[in-house]
Amino acid sequence: MILLLILSINNILQYLNKIYKLSQIMKLVKNINEKNSIKTEVSDKEAEEAFRTILRWIGEDPSREGLIETPKRVTKAYKEYFQGYKKSTDEILSKTFGDVEGYDDMVVEKNITVESHCEHHMAPIIGVAHVAYIPKNNVVGLSKLARVVEVFSKRLQTQERLTMQIAKAIMEALDAKGVAVTIDASHQCMTMRGIKKERATTVTNYYLGQFKEDLSYQNRYLRFIVK
Ligand SMILES: [Zn+2]
Repeated sequence: MILLLILSINNILQYLNKIYKLSQIMKLVKNINEKNSIKTEVSDKEAEEAFRTILRWIGEDPSREGLIETPKRVTKAYKEYFQGYKKSTDEILSKTFGDVEGYDDMVVEKNITVESHCEHHMAPIIGVAHVAYIPKNNVVGLSKLARVVEVFSKRLQTQERLTMQIAKAIMEALDAKGVAVTIDASHQCMTMRGIKKERATTVTNYYLGQFKEDLSYQNRYLRFIVK
């Protein structure tokens, strides 16, 4: 009888020990998760410190008068260059107008300024975008097309991906019959460094729906954007 009691107490103790160990492991996992989430949030101060390091690395003295405020200014400028990470196009394209009064031809918005940065060198990509869509039931305010270009531009990009992202976002949000996007831009990583072809520009096109299937639409679009 006593032996049985001792055995069962022993079992209970083992069980409690297991629970304790498990709770310790869960605490550890929680700590690791918390550490990781802190790591992804970089403060302005940390960014400024990094720019100070780069100044030293290029051979400058970050403490000289002209450079003291530079890391702060660069951090602020970077917030502007990369503000697209904090914005979504769903919001921009959520307000559409259903009353198109039978308008069923393409809407073309030309020469939208593109200011982006290449993801390989973080060098500026400067150029223009042309955006066209063929409405099905909904149209969108014209400025919204330019804002979609801006949201995706203000991120680290490749020109190919930027072109596709703009087209797909508009196609999806408007449920359009077709979308065409062209970007013509110069990459400073090519014009200012590397092979230094200062007049080279890159043209990318992306077609969806009717623009892809019907070459007559594509040709008309192309004629509009070269005018
Ligand atoms: Zn590049």
